[in-house]
Amino acid sequence: MSQTNHSAQLAELSKRLHGSVDELAANVVALAEINSGSFNASGVNQCGERLAELSQSLQPDLVETLDVGPTITLDEVGQRRETNMGQAVRVAKRVDAPFRVCVFGHLDTVFAPDHPFQSVTRKGDVLYGPGVADCKGGLVIGLEALRHLDTTDWGHQVGWEFIAVPDEEVGSHGSKTLLASIASTTQLGLGVEPALPTGNIAAARKGSLTVHAVCRGVPAHVGRAHEDGRSAIRAAARLLDQMEEANARAGTTVNCGAIRGGGPLNVVPDLAVASFNIRVQTDADHRWIREQVAALAASVADELDVSIDLDWIAARPPKERTAAMETLLQDAVSAGQIVEDPVIGQDTGGSCDGNDLAASGLWNLDSLGIRGGGIHSKAEFADVASIPTRSAIMAHLIHQAFERHRLNA
Ligand SMILES: [Zn+2]
Repeated sequence: MSQTNHSAQLAELSKRLHGSVDELAANVVALAEINSGSFNASGVNQCGERLAELSQSLQPDLVETLDVGPTITLDEVGQRRETNMGQAVRVAKRVDAPFRVCVFGHLDTVFAPDHPFQSVTRKGDVLYGPGVADCKGGLVIGLEALRHLDTTDWGHQVGWEFIAVPDEEVGSHGSKTLLASIASTTQLGLGVEPALPTGNIAAARKGSLTVHAVCRGVPAHVGRAHEDGRSAIRAAARLLDQMEEANARAGTTVNCGAIRGGGPLNVVPDLAVASFNIRVQTDADHRWIREQVAALAASVADELDVSIDLDWIAARPPKERTAAMETLLQDAVSAGQIVEDPVIGQDTGGSCDGNDLAASGLWNLDSLGIRGGGIHSKAEFADVASIPTRSAIMAHLIHQAFERHRLNA
């Protein structure tokens, strides 16, 4: 098919979806009005059922739910705890096609059932509600982009996987095996995470690491034997200070997001757990900061005569700009021009499943979802008028990658 015809089809797709924007908005609301906080497994599953229902109109060959592994957290005494999560949803069509794309997103949100932000309201084209942007609006966009394939004279040659995992907001720890298996059987990944606040598409993303420093000291009565005590909280505080100083390397940031420990005020505390999230730009930074943290922990432990165990729980590798990524970004820029929703690629410190998929070798762009903002806060909003253009941008990415595949085959 000529590019002119294809461009006309994209513009037509965007226009047609614009005419059904109320129906599309209703689909987003239907998903967002179900609480699917990451640890609310039954809510996540209910949201997955609704997504599976919405996908039926694409006449897929397969709709299934899949168990994923547990999420690992650390309790207040520094012990690992495993929590079972909801299920992933997988919808697929033409699984035997030589060229296959994977549209990926997540069912979970950061809003637990007891969070005050639960309902969705609409003002004009803007929806306000939990998960409307991150990433339930994107799930609806993904379905529309895939639906478009069957209206074209080329799309019936494209196989697809549509995957929504239950645990992205807590690091997709349990879904990593599933994501890696999809990366190995598809040629293009399209993630429906929300657009960046500028409306742009994420290019390079930082890697993310979580480390818990479990500090153990010696308890002692504050009045009678203070000198016999070894304060775990003091060790955690000193380590925290020194680790945040380690931000010195450009592109690397360290944040202590939680610190737990202690008890009665007249006892030298013998346990403290300091939990850190670290962002890195490159694999070299990743190795560097791990060495730094290990050395700092050893020196603080030595200096204050305590023990410090480091528990590295989850890691997302950095997603660097590659030639393959530049090609996909160029496709997105061209599509944005055709449907008058201009976008460019923009680097970000956030990380998502796109990081893991890229590390598994799957070329992908991962923030092709809805325009919006305020994500992870009770100000979250999404612009439903962007569903038509974003769906068209995704459809264009599929078309261009398929054309390249066809020419190289
Ligand atoms: Zn998200």
